[in-house]
Amino acid sequence: MLAAGRGGAESFSWQTAAACRNVDPALFFHPDGERGRARERRQLTAKEICGECPVIYQCLEHAVTFQEPFGTWGGLTEEERGKLLSRRAVNIRTHGRSARGG
Ligand code: SF4
Repeated sequence: MLAAGRGGAESFSWQTAAACRNVDPALFFHPDGERGRARERRQLTAKEICGECPVIYQCLEHAVTFQEPFGTWGGLTEEERGKLLSRRAVNIRTHGRSARGG
């Protein structure tokens, strides 16, 4: 999903190649009260678009770095990104920041 200026000096040039540039943003963000199969169907459609996107890694990196709280970014929903961040935190606590002690 296209970022609207979050991240300060971050370059958003990757967005010019985004597969979602001309797609209704509502596909990537859940409306109030959406649940169950409707939510699954919408997220699956968004993920299919992400799966064809040439900037999927840049998009996911942006969303994880700036902890975008809502929406599907880089092929992951907010819940999936939350789990990814939790695993990263556990890995950092367990194994340190890098093999060189960073
Ligand atoms: S990965 Fe998905 S949300 Fe991100 S720019 Fe591409 S199509 Fe849009």
